[in-house]
Amino acid sequence: MNAMSAGDPSPEPDGLAGPPFDPERFRREGRAVVDWIADYWQSLASRPVRSQVPPGWVRSELSPHAPEDPEPLTDIVADLDRVIVPGLTHWQHPSFFAYFPASASGPSILGELLTAGLGVQGMLWATSPACTELETHVLDWLRDLLGLPERFGSGSAGGGVIQDSASSGVLCALVAARERATSLGTNRTGLCQDDRPLVAYASADAHSSVEKAMGIAGIGREWLRRIPVDAGGRMDATALAAAMDQDAAAGRRPFFVVATVGTTASGGIDPVPAVAAIAARHSAWLHVDAAWAGAAAICPEFRDAVVAGADRADSWGFNPHKWLLVNFDCHVLWVADRAALVSALSMKPEYLRNAASDGGAVIDYSDWQVPLGRRFRALKLWMTLRMLGAEALRTHIRRHVDWAREFAGWVAADPRFELATEPSLALVCFALRAGDDASRRLLDRVNASGRGFLSHAHVNGRFALRLAIGGATTTRDDVVAIWHLLADSAPA
Ligand SMILES: *Cc1c(COP(=O)(O)O)cnc(C)c1O
Repeated sequence: MNAMSAGDPSPEPDGLAGPPFDPERFRREGRAVVDWIADYWQSLASRPVRSQVPPGWVRSELSPHAPEDPEPLTDIVADLDRVIVPGLTHWQHPSFFAYFPASASGPSILGELLTAGLGVQGMLWATSPACTELETHVLDWLRDLLGLPERFGSGSAGGGVIQDSASSGVLCALVAARERATSLGTNRTGLCQDDRPLVAYASADAHSSVEKAMGIAGIGREWLRRIPVDAGGRMDATALAAAMDQDAAAGRRPFFVVATVGTTASGGIDPVPAVAAIAARHSAWLHVDAAWAGAAAICPEFRDAVVAGADRADSWGFNPHKWLLVNFDCHVLWVADRAALVSALSMKPEYLRNAASDGGAVIDYSDWQVPLGRRFRALKLWMTLRMLGAEALRTHIRRHVDWAREFAGWVAADPRFELATEPSLALVCFALRAGDDASRRLLDRVNASGRGFLSHAHVNGRFALRLAIGGATTTRDDVVAIWHLLADSAPA
C-alpha cells in the first residue's frame, strides 16, 4: 500500500463506482478473479464435460436490462458460478477429446491479461513499436523452433504475422495469391487482366474456410476444385495435376492451391512436396494449412512429416491456440514474399500516415491482415515460450502422440472396434464394426454421460468417432478412462 491510499479511507466502502480504472480496487478485484480462475481449473475434473443446459436457459437466468447502477464484483462472480459455468462446455477439461483442442496454459492466460492490461492497439509500428517488434521476434523464434525455412523469417523477403484464426490466414493468403496472379494493385475479383477466370484447388477434406474465403474474396465458391483423397485422407497429386492442366488448357488461370497438413476429419497429411511441384508448373500460390498438426513440428521426430515441402510454399499457417498451450485466439501465418500480401491489404489514408511508415523501415501489421486494428497477441506467445520453455512443449506434444498410439492399439485389439484410418499424431478415428448407427449411438451415449466428449467425422465413407488428445489437463489416466467408458458402453 502506498502512503496515499493508506491514509485515505475509500470513498466507496462497498467498492462501487469510482473512476474506470482505480489501481487499488483493481489489485483487490484482480486477485479475486485470478483466484476464481484457479479454482475453476481445479474443479474441472469434477464437472460434466459438456454443458447440460437446454437452449435459452442461460438467457432466461440473466437480467432483461443492463444495470443503471454499479454492481459489486461479488454479485457478478456469483452469477458466473450460477449461470455461466453450467452453460459451458469445458474445453480445458481433462476428458475433452472433441474437434481439436483449444489448449490454454497459466502463462498464456497471464499473457492475455497483460494484453488487456496494457490496452494497446498495434495497427502500425508507430502506434506501439513493442507490439510490432515483439511479434516479429517471437515469430522468428517460433519459425526456428518448428524448423521452417529461412524464407519465412523476418530477415528475408517474407515474414510472419499473428491473426485471429486459420480462416483469416487462408483468406489473406488467397487475396495475396490473387494479387500476384492478376497484377499488383488492381484489386480484381475473379478474373485475370486478360479475363481468364481464376481457379483454386484443395482436397476434398480441406477445411471449409478455403471455400468460404473464395466466396468472401468475390471469386466465387464454385471456382474451388475439390481434389479427391486416398484412404489416408491425403490429396491425390495426380488428380490435382490433371485438374490444373485441364483448367489451363481451357483458358482458365490456376492461381491458388491449398495443401493440408493434418485434415480436420482424420489428420491426413497431403504430399506437400509433390503438390508444390505441380503448383509451380502453373505459377500458382501454394498455401499450407497446418492449423492443428503444425505444432508437432516443434519435435524433431515429427518435423519431417509436418514441414516437408514448406521450403516451396508461398505461405504456411498454424494455430498455436490448438495444440501449443497458447489460449485462443492465436494463428500464425508466414509468407515467403510479403510484397503480394501487403499490396493486397495495405491502406494508408492520410490520418494513418507517419514518418516511420513512409520511411519503409518498419512493419505495419495492419497491412498483413483484414482488420485495421490489432490486439497485442504476441505477449501470450512470448509468455508461453518463456515460462514453459520449448522442451516442455515438446514433452506435451510427445505424450499425446504416445497416448494416441496406445489408444489406437486398444481399439485395434477389441473385436467390436476398428480403426477408420491410421492414427495421425494425436488424433484417432475409429468405429464400431456393427456399422454407422451403432457408432453414432455409442458416441451419443458417451457424450451424454458427461464423463468424456468426442466428436465425429466421415472418414473413408463411414461415420467415425474422433479422439483428439491435446488438452493442457489431460493425463494418460484420462485416456485410459475414456477407453474404458467407450468399451463398457459399446454393445457386447
Ligand atoms: C481448425 C482448423 C481450421 C480452422 O481454424 P480457425 O482458426 O478456427 O479458423 C482450418 N484448417 C484446419 C486444418 C483446421 O484443423
